[in-house]
Amino acid sequence: MRRIIGGGLSGLAAAVNFAKAGEKVELHEARKAVGEQFHANYQVLLKERPDMPWADSTAPAYLKRWGLEPEFTWRNAQKFVCCTPTRELTITMKQPLPLILRGGEGSLERGLAAEAEREGAKFHYKSRPKPQPGDVVATGSYRTDMAAFGAYYENSDFPRDQFLYMHDEKYSPRGWYLYIIPMDDDTIKVMNCCSRSHTKHVRRLLYKAVEERKVLRDIIDGAKPTGTVGGQGGAEFPRSAVRDGVYYTGEAAGFQDPWRGFGMNYAIESGVLAQRALSNGGNYDQMWKAQFRNRKKADIARRGIFALLGNRAFEMAMRKVKDGDTVDWEKMNLQGWRKSLVYNSFYAMEMVKKGIWDRW
Ligand SMILES: Cc1cc2nc3c(=O)[nH]c(=O)nc-3n(C[C@H](O)[C@H](O)[C@H](O)COP(=O)(O)OP(=O)(O)OC[C@H]3O[C@@H](n4cnc5c(N)ncnc54)[C@H](O)[C@@H]3O)c2cc1C
Repeated sequence: MRRIIGGGLSGLAAAVNFAKAGEKVELHEARKAVGEQFHANYQVLLKERPDMPWADSTAPAYLKRWGLEPEFTWRNAQKFVCCTPTRELTITMKQPLPLILRGGEGSLERGLAAEAEREGAKFHYKSRPKPQPGDVVATGSYRTDMAAFGAYYENSDFPRDQFLYMHDEKYSPRGWYLYIIPMDDDTIKVMNCCSRSHTKHVRRLLYKAVEERKVLRDIIDGAKPTGTVGGQGGAEFPRSAVRDGVYYTGEAAGFQDPWRGFGMNYAIESGVLAQRALSNGGNYDQMWKAQFRNRKKADIARRGIFALLGNRAFEMAMRKVKDGDTVDWEKMNLQGWRKSLVYNSFYAMEMVKKGIWDRW
């Protein structure tokens, strides 16, 4: 019998794959159900690799590649209001960004749990067993390197296929960001993100931005928040994610994107890799290191670039973009030797900084 502790994306991805491999599996979740961790909110799913064709990067195609075929709510965002500290432009992304519903009915967690149950996995709720050798531990973040706070506002005017993305260090210090995603009802979610040393201000800074930035004030138009959402994440890539025979996955292992806090891909992929290692006798550490090497390096390097250059990094990236443009993010990125030089330097600097101060 395989045992998984924690019913977030990582634990659920492992559970579905154990069950599909014909193994008996039980999942223990501390809460009364899965999908209880968040109020309903859309989260951005990144491409597994930047060079991957769009057809392989839709939410269902990505999940299918990782052995997952859940029913859940998702949609694409293609139009952006992009805000630098000095400019606001509406742009269309060449490739849309998949948004996945997290939390509550229709969420990816609920879809994966239903799929796992159909395949024969057993669920134990309000259960927190002590990890034993051979267990998969997927209990989420154990440290705070970043925090996000969001408020929901009633708004039926904000286009449902649009997204707002703002880099302004006044509200999201050290190169973090604020965004708006329209929800399925007549609300929008305004979310602000910060890294450690600013995390306790993330809520205050969101409300300050809503008060001070005209673009936000015009959208929110005096409405009061109808609810809030938030959470924190921890990024600490370990030397080994197997300790005392226990396999750690997702944020419980420290797998998280230190640049933007986009940890869903890390969570799903590490859950499946742990299952494959246990079911087929593979080396989990080698597997996740191979899978995450390039992404982790790019995420750490970009955290360094944005932490140091902040607004200037985003202004620089956006300098040639005009209102109404269609934008291909990959082409805007540095290429070739310039990219290697800049990324390698910032990666090295960021790792030194992390080694000394233990923060990104
Ligand atoms: C507000 C917010 C917005 C985000 N937006 C994005 C985004 O846009 N894109 C993106 O890619 N990522 C985003 N993330 C990050 C992403 O949600 C996480 O990285 C990912 O969900 C981590 O999955 P996980 O399975 O490792 O852990 P979790 O999702 O944290 O799941 C852990 C589970 O374990 C359970 N648990 C905890 N302790 C125990 C125990 N002792 N015993 C049993 N069960 C236990 C918890 O109840 C929970 O269900 C966001 C995070 C937050 C907080």
